[in-house]
Amino acid sequence: MNAVVLLGPPGAGKGTVAEVLVARGFRHVSTGDLLREQIRLGTPLGVEAQALMDQGQFVPDDTVVGMIRDLITGENGSRFLFDGFPRTLVQAEKLDELIDSIQGTIDSVLLLECPDEVIVRRLGGRRTCAKCGAVYHMAFNPPSAGEYCDVDGCGLSQRPDDKEETIRERLKVYKEQTAPLVEYYEARNLVHPVDASMRIEEVRQAVLQLMA
Ligand code: ADP
Ligand code: AMP
Repeated sequence: MNAVVLLGPPGAGKGTVAEVLVARGFRHVSTGDLLREQIRLGTPLGVEAQALMDQGQFVPDDTVVGMIRDLITGENGSRFLFDGFPRTLVQAEKLDELIDSIQGTIDSVLLLECPDEVIVRRLGGRRTCAKCGAVYHMAFNPPSAGEYCDVDGCGLSQRPDDKEETIRERLKVYKEQTAPLVEYYEARNLVHPVDASMRIEEVRQAVLQLMA
């Protein structure tokens, strides 16, 4: 099993970039998507996670590490693309242990860098399809008609945590808890910075070049 980690603040474009890597055979794993699925199903885990997510706080490390453990166990031949995981040093250490235990490797960490003000504009206009997970932006990557998904025609929705006040809190939490991971992975020469403030196509090209 080998893995690429997408690191970067909320709204930097991790999910958007993931689409081109999925087309190249990666298995996209977003812990945010997995948690939202638990909320949709109304499981106890989902109920616990929702209150934290709505306030822009992280869910407990054990919860997300458990989800990742379940996913990668027995998947020795897969190429994983982790999006939004790990997000704390504890999660990064646990991921190393899990990967070591199945003789896997982290090949690279793509660091999507983007200024706060760009992020606030991006998340304010983000719309997602609850059915297929497609991500749009009403100005920068609009659906072709109204607020309906191009893939399956379902109505698009705005995430409850994409309100400006919650976005600011998420950026604060990112700087405190996730930014230290850059140093953690730099010590192993795994980090490849990408200027994520460019247009979507340019960011995707930059990522594809790094992965070539
Ligand atoms: P993340 O997964 O990092 O939270 P997303 O991929 O969901 O970020 O992108 C956040 C929002 O910004 C979405 O509405 C997306 O359409 C838009 N977006 C992503 N990348 C870019 C870009 N390079 N330029 C403009 N808008 C972008
Ligand atoms: P995302 O979809 O990546 O923007 O994540 C949305 C929210 O889910 C975050 O603000 C956190 O509340 C929660 N979340 C997602 N991934 C993690 C993680 N690895 N650790 C803790 N909380 C997470």
